[in-house]
Formats: sequence, C-alpha cells, structure tokens
Amino acid sequence: MSEPLIALRGVNKYYGEYHALRDITAEIGAGEFFSLLGPSGCGKTTLLRAIAGFEEISGGSITLSGKDMAGVPPNLRPTNMVFQSYAIFPHLSVEQNVGFGLRKSGMGTGDKTRAIGEALEMVGLGAFGGRAAHALSGGQRQRVALARALILKPKVLLLDEPLSALDRKMREDMQVELMKLQREVGITFVLVTHDQEEALVMSDRIAVMFEGEIAQLDDPEDLYRRPATKRVADFIGVMNFLPAVAGDGLDVAGLGRVEIDGVFCPQGAVSGACSVGLRPETLSLLYEGEVARAREVSGVIDEVVYYGDMTYYDVRLAGLDAPVRLSMRNVVGRDVLEVGAPARVAWDPAAMVVFPEGA
Ligand code: ATP
Repeated sequence: MSEPLIALRGVNKYYGEYHALRDITAEIGAGEFFSLLGPSGCGKTTLLRAIAGFEEISGGSITLSGKDMAGVPPNLRPTNMVFQSYAIFPHLSVEQNVGFGLRKSGMGTGDKTRAIGEALEMVGLGAFGGRAAHALSGGQRQRVALARALILKPKVLLLDEPLSALDRKMREDMQVELMKLQREVGITFVLVTHDQEEALVMSDRIAVMFEGEIAQLDDPEDLYRRPATKRVADFIGVMNFLPAVAGDGLDVAGLGRVEIDGVFCPQGAVSGACSVGLRPETLSLLYEGEVARAREVSGVIDEVVYYGDMTYYDVRLAGLDAPVRLSMRNVVGRDVLEVGAPARVAWDPAAMVVFPEGA
C-alpha cells in the first residue's frame, strides 16, 4: 500500500477509568471497503467517531491523507458519517434532504440540481426526488441518507451500522448495492457492524475487535479460513473445536491421527493438549453407496436443522462429548437424513486449524 488514506497509530481512548480503545494501529488505503467488526461494546463506534472527529482520543494519532487530525473538527475533516438512524428530515422532500449539505456550498441552483440528481441516481432513487421523505420505506430512507453523504464527495464515508434497522431481505439487497456503489464512486468506506456475514460479504478487509483491541485484521477469506484465535474463529461463523494432542502426530478426538506437517497452526507450532477447529462445510456426510474414504468415521445423527438450500447436521462420534456440526448443500434427489440415522462423516486435515490449549 502506498501512503495510506487513514493511518491509526497507537490510538487509545479512555472514558474516565474505562479503557475503550487499546493501542489501535491500522492503515486503510484509498478506495478500500474496510469494516470494524465486533460484539457490542468492543469499541468500534468509538473508533469510527474518533476518525470522524466526534470523539477526542487520549493517546496516539489519527492521520488522514498524511495530515494529523488532532484538534481538527468533524466539519473540516475529509470524512462524512452515515448513522444507523438515518437522521433524515421527514418534513422535507427527498431532494431537499439530499441537497441539505450544499446549503452553504456557494453552488449555483443549476449545479445543485444536477448534483442532487446525480446523487439520487447513484443510490437508485432517481425517480423519487419530489417525494416527501416521510413517505419512504426504511431502505429508501437509508438510500437518501447515503445520497446526502455522497453529494459532499468526502474522501471517506463512515458508516455506523447503516443497515441494522432493515429487514433481512432488504439488508441483503442493500449489502450488494452498497458494495457496488463503493466500487463505482471509489470513495473509501469504513463500516461498523456486529454482523459477521455483512462484514464478510462487503469488505476488502476486516478488523475484528474485542474489548478495545484489534484481534485480527485480514481479508474476509483469510479471516474465515485462517482465524488467529479460537475467539475470532467462533465469532466469524461456526467452528467445531475438537480436543486433540500434538506430538510427532496429531491425535484428534473423534477423528483419529493425522500428520502434523500439513496442518495450519496460526499461533506457531503446537505440542501437547490443543484444540482442532473445523468449519461445518469442511466435514461431509457420505451417502449410501459412496465409496469408502481414507478419512472417514461413523456416527449417529443427533440433530437436523433444515434451511432449504442447506441442512445442518449434528453428528455424534465415538470419543467426543459434544456432537460435531456439519453442513450439506441440499440437492435434487437426495433426502434429508433423520435424527437417529447412522452417518458416515468424511473429513480433511487440510481444513484443520490447530489452537494451543486455552488460546
Ligand atoms: P455497539 O455495537 O453496542 O454500539 P461498540 O462496539 O460500538 O458497541 P462503543 O459504543 O464504541 O462500542 O463503546 C465501547 C465502550 O465504551 C462501551 O463499553 C461503552 O459503554 C463505553 N462508552 C462509549 N461511550 C462512552 C461515554 N461517552 N462515556 C463512557 N463510556 C462510554
């Protein structure tokens, strides 16, 4: 990355005694879609507000395009923020809402009208300019809020849980639209979310935060496949954790012995008691008539959760206290298995992630 657009260096924030941000260091590039992901209270909104200038930091530095932002008020930063609660004016029209930030811009009426039209086109509301803002759906209101932020052409758009008030279907549609929009306009987006799926879908890179610290900063695929800690693995989707012992080989409860060489250990070589992580989709059920696999164990189906396109199965394996969870794509002509049915489970050491005990 050349000169980062945003550089966070040793950022700390205290609220009285409470240490809300702990030594946050990260760089965000121009045109990047960057997400801050973590559970409630981990400090992601505080960090976003600090970048916007709504929150003073207690230590470290935040630079935007190489310029230190200490003491620079929000309105003089090249950032703009979109909030969860839209904050649009219900008594104004859509056009008036979108043009609100241009009031003091000194722009002529013609230029303003053109800019408003372009911003509305960008968010797919080209035909809605004259509509009263209160007569819009939640998704449309959020688009108005986006258009109002984009019209000011910020270098960075800061989005605080912008989709959390929308229903599931609308949220999924808006995720894809936001992603496309970000690519089109080329503005850097920094998104705060507690929804791991949302972060995985939209982001170029994600910082996972717990208790004021960045636990891992990676692209979505690495974060999912190569989580640095059990906590990150557990927060990003579902992962089975199987007790194991590492020596000259790796003995995994319920599955058997594997060579330790090809197995991924994010925290370095492991020996003694450890824990093996496996995602549900890396385990598979073998159906009647399928040829035997080198790595196959038998069990009994304990629970079946049917999702339409997928089925999740919990399978009891000898030597394990808790069942393992695996997922299968449902295909035409294949029945969903029932609780109590015998199950053959195939697994692959290449999908394993090994964590030291307690990590
Ligand atoms: P959420 O998803 O619930 O918004 P978050 O990760 O965005 O959570 P923050 O809002 O950044 O979390 O808050 C981080 C911590 O700092 C929380 O424990 C919160 O209670 C605390 N905090 C936030 N603002 C203040 C404040 N003005 N005064 C004191 N403590 C605060």
